[in-house]
Amino acid sequence: MTPPRVLAIGAHPDDAEFFAGGALAGFAAQGAEVGIVVCTDGARGGATGGEALAGRRRAEAERAATTLGIRAPVFLGHADGSLVADDALRRDLVREIRRERPDLVLLHDPTTLWTPLGETVHLGHSDHRAAGQATLDAVYPRLLLASFYPDLVDEGFAPWLVRELWLFDTARPDHFVPIADTSERKRRALACHESQHVPGLLAAASAIESAFSCGAGHEAFRRLRLV
Ligand SMILES: [Zn+2]
Repeated sequence: MTPPRVLAIGAHPDDAEFFAGGALAGFAAQGAEVGIVVCTDGARGGATGGEALAGRRRAEAERAATTLGIRAPVFLGHADGSLVADDALRRDLVREIRRERPDLVLLHDPTTLWTPLGETVHLGHSDHRAAGQATLDAVYPRLLLASFYPDLVDEGFAPWLVRELWLFDTARPDHFVPIADTSERKRRALACHESQHVPGLLAAASAIESAFSCGAGHEAFRRLRLV
């Protein structure tokens, strides 16, 4: 069954489509409301970083979202490369989750130090772990209780219960989504990130899709049902 509202929370402007673009495009095609939150400004994602790169990456992420058939991402603007799962980030995430009121949240697995890829490994990123940890800490208990961030409640961001979490960027998946129908769209979305090394991005996405025993053509998640 397609959840009516889906929210993916990534550390960087390309993470949601890299790890879950096929699943997100599939949800959107089935009529779900799908959103993306990007925690950092992406300003260190290149040899010469800074504000110009952050602006460019934001535009790329907006084009990628359009390609996936979903609305423009929300950027929280935390510093790329320095993300920490602190209360400022948790508060931002509670606000955005309360705003979107999703049934399903997709997030980085905060425990991923590396992912085995055949004989080599794909190293995890500290921003990914921080984004995943802050999202888990936002979902429980902060999202549920008006005693957390009462000023947000006063602004209309009422407590909310997420029903299910799918952890992407995980070395221990237990849920595999076939993306044969959406793989092409995912690849076109990844190709929107022209400031990144697109052939490398596409190759890495294929390697991760192929890393687990179900074979290529799937995205892998760890599925946590909360209710
Ligand atoms: Zn990333």
